[in-house]
Amino acid sequence: MSHENKDTLLALFYHEVTLPEAQKIREHLADCEDCRKYMHLLNQMDSALNQWPEANPLPDTFDRILATIPERWHASHVRPAVSARPIFNIAFAMVAILLLIYFVQSRMSQLPFWPAFEQNWLVQTLGSYGFVALVFFGLGAFITLALAPILYFDLNKRTLHI
Ligand SMILES: [Zn+2]
Repeated sequence: MSHENKDTLLALFYHEVTLPEAQKIREHLADCEDCRKYMHLLNQMDSALNQWPEANPLPDTFDRILATIPERWHASHVRPAVSARPIFNIAFAMVAILLLIYFVQSRMSQLPFWPAFEQNWLVQTLGSYGFVALVFFGLGAFITLALAPILYFDLNKRTLHI
């Protein structure tokens, strides 16, 4: 019989062989010191594992594992459900946009073609501030729609973890 490979010896060790197979392997083991050493190693490993003091995980095992994981991986579990920060950010952005519209509107009335522009029915209806606001939000909507596919795919990419 040829030299046994480790899989066969492991199969014997875990009693996953038929009786005739086991008999053949044992015959080989009687003559082969290499395989005998390997079986001895498996037996030693098995008894070492059986003597392992911590047979059951300690009660704080989960906490100890979490402690080794960087904060950002489990921060979502401890973060409060509602954060006021986005509201402040949005409010700040809105004020900034309104101030910018006011600034543009105040400068626009100094443009040479503004008097002619002012006669336009849209400017007449909305007023100069309303007209600039409309241009701004129109531009904003356009940019958002232009970026929507990118944002959509980026979001999906994060959800799919790719
Ligand atoms: Zn052998």
